[in-house]
Amino acid sequence: MPISEIQVDIGLLWNETEITGELVGDFEIRTTDTSGKSVCLESISRDFHARAIFPRKELTFGIRLQESLSHKRAREVLTNALAVSQSFKGEVVEAGVSWGEGLDGRVWWPILQAGSLHDAEEFLDELRSKTSLEPLSLSIVTMGERNDAPFEFAIGVEKREATRVSCVPRRQDSPFYLHDIPIGRGFHWERHERLSYRGELHLFASRGDGLTAMNRIPLETYIRSTVFSEMGPDLPDAFLAAQAVAARSTVLATANRHHRGEGFHLCNDDHCQCYQGVLREPQVISPALGETEGEILVSNGRPVDARYAKCCGGVSETYEAVWGGEGHPYFISRPCGEFETADLTQEQNMQEFLSQRAPAFCNDELHAYPERWREESYFRWQREYNASELQTLIEAKVGIEVGTVRELRPIKRGASGRILILEIVGSKQTLRIYRELEIRRVLFLSHLPSSCFIVETEGKGPDKFRLIGAGWGHGVGLCQLGAAAMAHKGRSKQRILEHYYPETKLFSIT
Ligand SMILES: [Zn+2]
Ligand SMILES: [Zn+2]
Repeated sequence: MPISEIQVDIGLLWNETEITGELVGDFEIRTTDTSGKSVCLESISRDFHARAIFPRKELTFGIRLQESLSHKRAREVLTNALAVSQSFKGEVVEAGVSWGEGLDGRVWWPILQAGSLHDAEEFLDELRSKTSLEPLSLSIVTMGERNDAPFEFAIGVEKREATRVSCVPRRQDSPFYLHDIPIGRGFHWERHERLSYRGELHLFASRGDGLTAMNRIPLETYIRSTVFSEMGPDLPDAFLAAQAVAARSTVLATANRHHRGEGFHLCNDDHCQCYQGVLREPQVISPALGETEGEILVSNGRPVDARYAKCCGGVSETYEAVWGGEGHPYFISRPCGEFETADLTQEQNMQEFLSQRAPAFCNDELHAYPERWREESYFRWQREYNASELQTLIEAKVGIEVGTVRELRPIKRGASGRILILEIVGSKQTLRIYRELEIRRVLFLSHLPSSCFIVETEGKGPDKFRLIGAGWGHGVGLCQLGAAAMAHKGRSKQRILEHYYPETKLFSIT
């Protein structure tokens, strides 16, 4: 498929009771009703209002046992799981998008049915403790496709019930506005803004409750708004180009995976990639970035899910340690620079690793990073809690009374030193936290920089816990600080991509 024809569907709002906005310029507005009949609306007024009128639909959940690039392997995992208990029911479902010849972004999920979210959470604990299924591969997913319930749509004097409304610009430069777009969902800095977008607007019922607004736009327009705008002119060209290639690959590889069944490919928030439409479109794109247009990384005929994170902390993490499932040849763990480290899955080696500042590309003492990358200490950091603070924090996050915290005990570490399973020993209860992201969520008000840390304590209680850590983010794939340092040293886009994504090839979609 030519690059100019690839379009991506971005979820701007979902599960909303009302959506309001404005179409600026010339649009073809088409509504489809329950019988599938579609009508074109003519309106002088440009302000529109959509309102959910359908009853709430309960969501159902499943436990994803793994994510596999092969349908056959997914089927084998499911068969083995079903053999554990007669009461298990399951299926293999497809996620992702096939973009055409040689660009297959599809994956397969073996799923055990779980019912309500509460049931799914209990079921997940049971599977982790009583079966031999890899605990880090198991996760809860929402099942079912979006529903096509009718909703009310009004523009000017026109008001009708529809199951879908499509607003397609007749001229390329006709944007639309949506009011109350949340930015930073779930974070303490969440705010709402009126934002404008290019491309098509589609409205339909969400999978569970309420309404969805989806924006269909050409891939390159999306990439320009999300990626190029984030990158200041003070960063070297080779870094910007490598980052643009990685982001473009990731879009093709992850579309319809994190939001399968929701009627869009990716969401507009940090969860997928932050996208704020016209507001973030750059005024000028440097020639080095322009040259990457249509370039992605491929491996075995598939777009590479080219993950990246702010700072690996010295050594990159493997894909399977963070997200479970199958490993990838391009997500091996390797030092971020020309040095060697001991086996960081071993507790005693972590102590030494964190006390010595390895000569990594992302070691912020060794390289000239832009000022805004120095606001935080990404390479090495510390957090301190007294025992009661830690107890309050953990109990609020997990909703379970653990009592006085006696110990934070790493049970399993990944190759970068990131803790993958953490045991919290409390006076009332001992519990295990699985996955690096969950560990980061539980141990900090918003998020801990990474789960690559050791714990020092003071006092007999102990009274104080000190987390001494490395890195910022999951540490899989490209290390942004490291890649920037490589570019400063004069390494090319290709060298950077080869270092962080070995065994992949540059491929140009033409
Ligand atoms: Zn998302
Ligand atoms: Zn690094």
